[in-house]
Amino acid sequence: MNKRVKPLNCPVCNRQLKSQKSIERGMGPVCAIKLLEKENEPPKGQMSIDEYLQEGDEVDMWSS
Ligand SMILES: [Zn+2]
Repeated sequence: MNKRVKPLNCPVCNRQLKSQKSIERGMGPVCAIKLLEKENEPPKGQMSIDEYLQEGDEVDMWSS
């Protein structure tokens, strides 16, 4: 099988992947870190469960 080696681009920033590791991962190292950080933090505008519980302290949810 004669597989042509074509330059791969990062799907996030569209820059060419140069290192073998980046190519194996499918994205550049910076974008990989950014993506990881995004996954670990809750999306903006959405309450974390801690915030939700704190807000709920003032409302008696169970009395209706
Ligand atoms: Zn990238």
